[in-house]
Amino acid sequence: MPPLTTQQRDSVLPLLEKIRADIRELAGDDETVVFQMRRYIGKRLEFDERGTPAVRRRLKNLKWKLQRGLCAVCKEALPIHGSELDRTEAILGYTEENTRLVCHNCHRSTQEAKDFAKA
Ligand SMILES: [Zn+2]
Repeated sequence: MPPLTTQQRDSVLPLLEKIRADIRELAGDDETVVFQMRRYIGKRLEFDERGTPAVRRRLKNLKWKLQRGLCAVCKEALPIHGSELDRTEAILGYTEENTRLVCHNCHRSTQEAKDFAKA
C-alpha cells in the first residue's frame, strides 16, 4: 500500500488542526478532559481501521478453531492467549478471509518480510 503523497498529507492536516482546536474549545482549560477526548477520538479512529477488541476477539476464537489450535505458519501448537491475527492485506481489515492466526515469532517474521518487501 503506497503511503500518502505529500499533497494528500497536506490536504488532511487542516482536518487534524480542526479536531485539535475543537477539542480545546470543548474541553476548555481542563487538561484531563483534553487528554480523555484525544484518547477517545484516537481509539475510535483505530476501531475504524482495526474493528473493536470484541470483534477481533471473536475472530481470533473462530480462527483458532478453524486452524485446530495451530499456528498458520510454523504449525506448532498455538495457545489462544498470546496468539496474533495476521492480515494478508492491512487495508482489507480483520475479516475471516483476510486473516490467519499465528504465534508471536511467526507474526514478527512475516511483518519484517512485508516491511522488507516494501522497502
Ligand atoms: Zn508460528
